[in-house]
Amino acid sequence: IRKIAVFTSGGDAPGMNAAIRAVTRAAIVNKLKVTGIRRGYQGMIEGDFVALRSSDVSGILQLGGTMLQTARSDEFRTAAGREQAYQQLKKAEIDAVVVIGGDGSFTGALVMSQEYNIPFIGIPATIDNDMYGTDYTIGYETALNSVVEAVDKIRDTARSHGRIFFVEVMGREAGLLALTSGIACGAEVILIPESNEQHIELEKFLHKGYKKKETSGIIMVAEGDEAGGAMKIAEKVRNEHPDLDVRVSILGHIQRGGSPTAKDRVNATRMGVAAIEALLDDQKSMMIGITNEKIVHVPFNKAVKLNHSIDNNLLDIHKLMNR
Ligand code: ATP
Repeated sequence: IRKIAVFTSGGDAPGMNAAIRAVTRAAIVNKLKVTGIRRGYQGMIEGDFVALRSSDVSGILQLGGTMLQTARSDEFRTAAGREQAYQQLKKAEIDAVVVIGGDGSFTGALVMSQEYNIPFIGIPATIDNDMYGTDYTIGYETALNSVVEAVDKIRDTARSHGRIFFVEVMGREAGLLALTSGIACGAEVILIPESNEQHIELEKFLHKGYKKKETSGIIMVAEGDEAGGAMKIAEKVRNEHPDLDVRVSILGHIQRGGSPTAKDRVNATRMGVAAIEALLDDQKSMMIGITNEKIVHVPFNKAVKLNHSIDNNLLDIHKLMNR
């Protein structure tokens, strides 16, 4: 291979820039030319390409978001869209591609590489940390710290006023961010899609005899919990316990942005370099992961099909803290 392309796809995550920088510089050191594809698969279809030199990725290591921008592309889900994308890659003489994104992005890469002879290597970047086969996805650690910082502030008000706050964090299908931030913030209850037992814990907490203005609590709610989000569950609790002062805080997009933590930067750099090494090693349709602090290679079809399960020990630890 002589020329590679790199792009970001799906939701943005802090540390994507660090990964773009690492891929670019590792490729250049190995005498490969690098093209950045702007706006994910949509930019691939439209041929929105930009040449990347080492100096083009200067000063981005510490920035959140992605300098190449990202997008969701319905067109790429069609065979005609992928055909157009392939023609654009061919025209630009691109021999291999590094995709930085989540499981949807890797599914797209898998589909395209089955139709056309073009190798893809994936770098997992999603604040949910829900990919099978890797302990880390880029952005998760930063998002976790952002949530903890925000909830610590909410805790001040909850305590001062004796209020119960339902705090909603991102995670439509995965509750790890809610679970770990809940442990880090000493949340009284954590509601996640992976375990409906937590609703029993909520009832126990509410029945403990907590009376208005006497005490307070933080209930972490993952977006995808069966209750249907913090608003809905808070409304139900308000109706059932009119004596409690119940509030809701939806953290929203502050969880996605911001400067990546040191760990996200280091992991993104390691994975970026490993992606280029994998391509030079003739690998394809592989996700680069980090397990037990070591770089691992996970086939796309495993990474996207299997779920990253919740560590039940974390749930047990949380329960123990709230006995
Ligand atoms: P996040 O975890 O942030 O959601 P993601 O990579 O899973 O990131 P998606 O929106 O699911 O984000 O996928 C990104 C893009 O990948 C889609 O917009 C689409 O263009 C492409 N894609 C996803 N699934 C497929 C598929 N089955 N076939 C072709 N392309 C796909």
